[in-house]
Amino acid sequence: MKLLEYEAKEYFKQFGIPTPMGNMVTTPEDAAKYVESLGKPVVIKVQLPVGGRGKAGGVKFADTSEEAKEAAKQLLGMTIKDLKVEKLYVEEKVGIVNEIYLGVTIDRNRKQHVVLASSEGGMEIEEVAAKTPEKIVRFYVDPLTGLRSYHANYIASKLGYRGGMMRKFSSFVTKLYTLAVEMDAELTEINPLAEVADGFLAADARLNIDNNALFRHKELQERLLDSYQGELTEREMEARAEDLTYVELDGDIGIIGNGAGLTMATLDSVMIHGGKAANFLDLGGGATPERIGKAVKFVLRDERTKSLFVNVLGGITRCDYTAEGIVAAREELGLRKPIVVRMMGTKEEEGKAILKKNDIDTLDSMEEAAEKAVKLAGGDA
Ligand code: GDP
Ligand code: MN
Repeated sequence: MKLLEYEAKEYFKQFGIPTPMGNMVTTPEDAAKYVESLGKPVVIKVQLPVGGRGKAGGVKFADTSEEAKEAAKQLLGMTIKDLKVEKLYVEEKVGIVNEIYLGVTIDRNRKQHVVLASSEGGMEIEEVAAKTPEKIVRFYVDPLTGLRSYHANYIASKLGYRGGMMRKFSSFVTKLYTLAVEMDAELTEINPLAEVADGFLAADARLNIDNNALFRHKELQERLLDSYQGELTEREMEARAEDLTYVELDGDIGIIGNGAGLTMATLDSVMIHGGKAANFLDLGGGATPERIGKAVKFVLRDERTKSLFVNVLGGITRCDYTAEGIVAAREELGLRKPIVVRMMGTKEEEGKAILKKNDIDTLDSMEEAAEKAVKLAGGDA
């Protein structure tokens, strides 16, 4: 989840990271009012989830409220990278001595956070990275120690800071790292981090949160759900609320698999045999009978679902649990829609026995199972 600059800066403030004074506005009048109250020259920046706003003309300077109004009017009329500008951030303009780049991200191969810093930040940072990579300091953080003050001091000194400026920069780095860890950031970045006469300020802010960690950040999770409004169908919204990974399509065969790969392959096999999926649901790994039952009920309740194809590869997901879930769901719904099951792996025999006792057939070949599901959905196919 990508936060906008003004949202990221809210979190920066919570973590004690110094930022210039600023305010988000949506009209030229409010931009003018804020500049009036601030009584200082400002920078006005479009708020969009894309980088390179400066180069795209999305950053303007204004010395007076009249200038701010005019600049805001122009910016609010812009479209950048196909996105319409609806929000602006009006911020006190700071006297920048030098533009620094500072970022914290995750190196997935090393399974470590990495702090990236350069004294040559600003809008050309990509070029610096490509042409003179030695000008970018990389510091890998040992997860057992975290980022200690002496690590941060080392980064600051690598950028050429000594004495008071070193301590200030180092505290900046420590705070940004703390934010990255506590907010579950995939990336947090300040470019430029403004070196001013007596310290540092985050002139820009980027904060991308790992969606899989949103359960730890309820306020953001809710916003993400809200943003799906309109994009997701009603049933997809319901599924999300029940923590099910479910996608609606326009056919008549329900599909349940475990793992994205197998679920997609199941979808393909149905298509190859001339069928059309009504939906697909990925159980993920290690589902309990209750969770599997919930999933089966969810898919069967869709009126368009004429037949259901459950394809499970038993690893940490157990075949007996799968069978129990299917049987319980069918009992509860009292529906007799045809169900085709293909399962193999952990507790396969036990699972098949449970299904057999309940008159649900299993097939060992995915191809044959797909063919049967298509036939049962179409009636005459
Ligand atoms: P980006 O292009 O989307 O990364 O937008 P930024 O917020 O980084 O702004 C682009 C550029 O505008 C920066 O690299 C700075 O050169 C300049 N800029 C932004 N804020 C200020 C400021 O407060 N004072 C000064 N002097 N320049 C600024
Ligand atoms: Mn920037």
